[in-house]
Amino acid sequence: MSKNGLVLADVRDGELRHVTLECLAAASQVMEDGVVTVAVLGSNAKDLVEKLSHYGADRVVTVTNPKLDQYTTDAYLQAFLQVIEKTDPDVIFTGHTAVGRDVSPRIAARLQLGLVSDCTAVDRVDGKIVFTRPIYAGKAFVKKAVREGEVFATLRPNNIAALEADTSRSAVVEELDVTIADDSLRTLIKELVRKTADGVDLSEARIVVAGGRGVKSAEGFQPLYELAEVLGAAVGASRGACDAEYCDYALQIGQTGKVVTPDLYIACGISGAIQHLAGMSNSKVIVAINKDPEASIFSVADYGIVGDLFEVVPMLTAELKEVLV
Ligand code: FAD
Repeated sequence: MSKNGLVLADVRDGELRHVTLECLAAASQVMEDGVVTVAVLGSNAKDLVEKLSHYGADRVVTVTNPKLDQYTTDAYLQAFLQVIEKTDPDVIFTGHTAVGRDVSPRIAARLQLGLVSDCTAVDRVDGKIVFTRPIYAGKAFVKKAVREGEVFATLRPNNIAALEADTSRSAVVEELDVTIADDSLRTLIKELVRKTADGVDLSEARIVVAGGRGVKSAEGFQPLYELAEVLGAAVGASRGACDAEYCDYALQIGQTGKVVTPDLYIACGISGAIQHLAGMSNSKVIVAINKDPEASIFSVADYGIVGDLFEVVPMLTAELKEVLV
């Protein structure tokens, strides 16, 4: 069976997001003898070709139109639709990121494709592609077997391992000219203002240190930032902490915030409400620090520390500094 897979690359500030490499691995796994193509948009698209080919792309379609340097719904939608028309894929993958979540339903609706969103695993079973996705806020998983025909899937970051880089691989490269009429663009980006400091991207972070209302103030987040720095982690928060204005909503994890699946999640002063668990309970190892031994967060934690976070977190940071720095 020959199946052609297309990955829509997710590029931020000129860098490939890691989930694009995870999409390449998923496509390579289910395509068997088919061709894995990746489409990459923006002026610096050609700089990313080598890395994409090392991580599993057989063909790279570059679209270097400068109107695609920053994400806008209208420009990306038009560009991706033209890439799809040109490459005629059977299966399309992209990351379940802000970009993927915005553009994928629009593409699926335009092309009348089935869309399986937020997948955590993709397999091939008896000739069918089987997508696994969480339901009921992560309490259960559903498997969807897709028969022949075109399908589009978004993959949750940090769930499917990228392939080992093979530096001997090189992909066929094609530049595609796309038509994006100025009067079709309903938004124009004039300036980018980041709400959070530059650092590790929360949704792709391997380690997350998260604070809740127990952190008590904006200054109370400082020990968490220090721990995060030693670990190379991203800082996240509960909605309780965001509502109390201890930090920006960009850090919120949970049902109405970001969904994260890091290797290690350290919850500090977070009670473990169901809406918070929806965003982090699939983390591989969960450590909870809470002074209430009855806190619900301990029910999902692999390691629990009953104690005051203002004592425990600095102690952890000091110990880890000895070992890691
Ligand atoms: P609290 O529940 O107040 O818990 C604070 C914890 O800190 C307590 O367990 C306490 O024992 C501990 N603590 C206090 N001081 C210390 C100390 N010095 N050391 C150690 N521990 C200490 N919440 C989310 O997080 N994400 C969401 O996306 C989200 N979406 C929601 C959507 C809806 C529709 C609704 C209704 C709610 C949503 N919530 C969400 C809110 C959620 O229900 C909880 O209110 C929120 O998660 C509580 O935040 P918290 O755990 O930080 O605060």
